[in-house]
Amino acid sequence: MDAESIYERWDVSPVINAAGTKTRIGGSRIRPEALKAMEAAATEFVSLPELQAAASQRIAELTGAEAGYVSNGAAGGLMLAAAACLAGDDPGAMARLPDTEGIPDEIIMPRHHRTGYDHALRAAGATIVDIGTNDRALGTGAQNVEPWEYSEACTDQTAAIAHIQKDDTPPAIETVSSIAAELGVPLIVDAAAELPPRANLTRFIDAGADLVVFSGGKGIRGPQTTGIVAGRADLISSIAMQNQDMHAAGELWEPPESLFGRPPFDGVPRQGIGRPLKVGKEELVGLLVAIDAYLAEDESDRAREWEEHLDRIQAAVDAISDVTVRRRSGAKSVTPELQLELSAHPMTATTVVTELRHRDPGIVVGTDDVGAEKLSINPMCLTADEAATVGQALVQCLNGEH
Ligand SMILES: *Cc1c(COP(=O)(O)O)cnc(C)c1O
Repeated sequence: MDAESIYERWDVSPVINAAGTKTRIGGSRIRPEALKAMEAAATEFVSLPELQAAASQRIAELTGAEAGYVSNGAAGGLMLAAAACLAGDDPGAMARLPDTEGIPDEIIMPRHHRTGYDHALRAAGATIVDIGTNDRALGTGAQNVEPWEYSEACTDQTAAIAHIQKDDTPPAIETVSSIAAELGVPLIVDAAAELPPRANLTRFIDAGADLVVFSGGKGIRGPQTTGIVAGRADLISSIAMQNQDMHAAGELWEPPESLFGRPPFDGVPRQGIGRPLKVGKEELVGLLVAIDAYLAEDESDRAREWEEHLDRIQAAVDAISDVTVRRRSGAKSVTPELQLELSAHPMTATTVVTELRHRDPGIVVGTDDVGAEKLSINPMCLTADEAATVGQALVQCLNGEH
């Protein structure tokens, strides 16, 4: 790692990221093309609604949705998606959120889809209505949620159904979207970490989702603070009205029709609940350029590079005794991972993780299963040199050489 890291200026040491696109250590490695574009974008001024309208068109082309929007991270996109489902095109409701008195404000979610990110849905003013059970954990074959449970929970207070997209979050999105369509409520899909594969850009829209949210700062490797919302034009218009700065005189307000539609009211909406989730012109341009670079790269080249990083680390750690090394390409990550199981090793996984973090440079590894004495290596944010450093560090640490 660069000895003259800019972070040292504030006495903060950079770390090697062997954990994947984790926000708390800075997410993904931004693409150089995106960084350069951001610098260029910063030198001029532009109408943000016009730029969002252009982004909308591009996102629509790429996803097959009617429209799109660049949000402040996927979590910001979820909050805007909820705000759109709650307020629709009603400027009064937009002005009142998160106060939802008098409007439907319930979002239906299966219990096993609940995550810390659904705070973003609640922040818009929604109340989440849980359905289903945790029966799958019993191993009887019973499912966590049955299709009828969505219909049963749907009332005149329902504003949306939310679905988190992971390999292990049944029911299939097609099933949920047909239920949502039958009930006449929009379906919001959180697909924040589901790129790559590139095919997922269109997959959830094809499957009938009304709004899909992706992170711009994970697999796309755009600016950390960006996300993509793709979906129905009327909902994207509501998002735009609740996110864009609205301090304009009515007679001078010229919202691009391709993004805002034709507002069904006179005058300008108030600053909406999404106004604190500002996206700057630099981030917006950075994301658009990053998406193009993401689409231009060869997915199999990238996959091969990840495998090579893991090969290098695996070759180093295979010789350590009392450690079981497994290669996984799994349900929880879009990349292959190396998992080290330490139950037979004298050190606990927690000790190893801590020692790696406290090295110079510090190394951050995956800790999702640390309680089961496992740590994981994700190659997504590593360079080849860093992969070699990680391999050496694991050997030294696990062999007790310091
Ligand atoms: C990462 C993630 C988010 C948040 O994405 P940001 O772009 O960091 O805001 C939301 N939901 C899921 C499932 C995620 O994995």
